[in-house]
Amino acid sequence: MKKSAIWFCCLATLVASTFSPAALSQSSSIIAIINANVIDGIGNQPILNATVMIKDGKISGIAANSRSVPAGASVIDLKGYWLLPGFVDAHTHIADMRSARAALVSGVTTARNLGIPYFVDKGIGELNRRGVTDVPELLCAGYHVRVRPVEEFFISFPQLQDLMGGVRGETAVRRVVRAQIDRGVDVIKINATERAGLPDTDPRQRTFTDEEIAAIVDEARKSNIYVASHAHGDEGAFASVRAGVRSIEHGTYLSDKTLALMKERGTFFVPTISTMAEMIEPRNDVILQIRGKHMAPRVRETTAKAIKLGVKIIAGTDTEYDRTSNFRLANEIQELINCGMAPMEAIKAATSYSAECAGIQNRTGAIKIGLEADLIAIERDPLTDVRSLQDVLLVINNGKVALNRLKW
Ligand SMILES: [Zn+2]
Repeated sequence: MKKSAIWFCCLATLVASTFSPAALSQSSSIIAIINANVIDGIGNQPILNATVMIKDGKISGIAANSRSVPAGASVIDLKGYWLLPGFVDAHTHIADMRSARAALVSGVTTARNLGIPYFVDKGIGELNRRGVTDVPELLCAGYHVRVRPVEEFFISFPQLQDLMGGVRGETAVRRVVRAQIDRGVDVIKINATERAGLPDTDPRQRTFTDEEIAAIVDEARKSNIYVASHAHGDEGAFASVRAGVRSIEHGTYLSDKTLALMKERGTFFVPTISTMAEMIEPRNDVILQIRGKHMAPRVRETTAKAIKLGVKIIAGTDTEYDRTSNFRLANEIQELINCGMAPMEAIKAATSYSAECAGIQNRTGAIKIGLEADLIAIERDPLTDVRSLQDVLLVINNGKVALNRLKW
């Protein structure tokens, strides 16, 4: 992608402001971030010592070596720190405001929230849209579409009570998908195999038939909505890819054949390695600990293969960002690098590629003129010190400063 240095039409005088919290009026609609080393989420090289301008919540300029800023702008001096797009976590389960805030301070300005009860995330996402900037933008999946929906599903949709015995057949799956779309979900999440995080389910076990998955994808497509398919086992994953889902979540046991089809179809792969690594923690049921010990190495192996094949891989934590969650998207980026992904690609996997998977690349996921000003700053060059991504010092969400720890 072409990177053009755009010079701001502005002052002759250099505004030599050093950052101070008082200078950062939230009411000022223009913010100039100066002395920033920019990784824009699209290009392959950083833009060193740049100035990034924000106007009315959007990125309005990026200039290499710029020394001038418009009058009246609030100035944030990054003093050589690194500026990146806010993370787009491709797979979360955020269920309350506290968790949403925890995600935001870790640098997640957008998340694809793939399943929680009662449409709580719709409300959180709506608050974000109405100007609450200490929570991320959430793209919501509502409930998992599964053969046996959770009981909460029927509390939200009592009119589907006749499906309590099981969602079977094309008509039934279409009704479930339609009901969720009518409630305003942004993405449909299906369970094409059983879950891994419960001791009494077998994650290799396939659930829906080919016809049912095809009907789910077709029903969603009528409303221009993508389908994310939870699939550990290969059979369920292959059927999902063939039916045209947008992404495979987890993909632990993907075969070479399925990976090749994903490459051909452009299906995204969200390996969520960190959540598999988290299973071995002592607080979990012993069955899960045992499972994690073989699933984590296996999903890393699958991811390494997918990287070599050129499958579109994106970063998702599969975390709830609640009090028990000690993994963040920075862990997943580290995992992808450990699997052989170049650091710059891993950052794109957590920003612009993830936005593309969600279909929102024209709004966010990169530092590009016209996109929402969703930005984070870190101390060190993440291309050489990826752990720096764990310690986010500044979060700008929809153009507003939501976290600022720069002064320390
Ligand atoms: Zn999940």
